[in-house]
Amino acid sequence: MSIDIKIENENELFEKYKELFVHKDNIRISLMGFGFAVGDGWYDLVRLCCEKIKNAVDQHNEKYDTFHNRVKGTTNEKHWHNPPKNKVEYPQVAQVKEKFGGLRFYTNGCDAEIYESIQGALDFAESMSFTICEDCGNKGKLREDRPWIKTLCDKCYEVKNID
Ligand SMILES: [Zn+2]
Repeated sequence: MSIDIKIENENELFEKYKELFVHKDNIRISLMGFGFAVGDGWYDLVRLCCEKIKNAVDQHNEKYDTFHNRVKGTTNEKHWHNPPKNKVEYPQVAQVKEKFGGLRFYTNGCDAEIYESIQGALDFAESMSFTICEDCGNKGKLREDRPWIKTLCDKCYEVKNID
């Protein structure tokens, strides 16, 4: 049984968040060409991370455009606190993997301000991953009594132990 995110789900992420996977076919820069190295049970968590990153960049850049094209020089300017000084690039998803039973989501080239606004969501996804079966997405828990520590539901845990 394959543990990876289903190929159709993987392709959906690559398509919907293509700005985050520009280098996915260049293995010198990104490991994403090999796909997401986590089970399909964590698909929603991975999608949440991608969504959060894309939104953070889009909102930052829209705010920049609004301020510099419509607000700057008008009487509304004084109501804006810390308007964005520059537009930012999308960070690149470098690697998504399981480590010690939890989800790890690594990016490259993330603007510091963007990183600050997404860090909470990435941490949240990691802590949630310890409660969700990596294989099937049902309620799971960390299984440390196996050769490879994994977060699994009771059913997948039994199946894995028979294999
Ligand atoms: Zn399961």
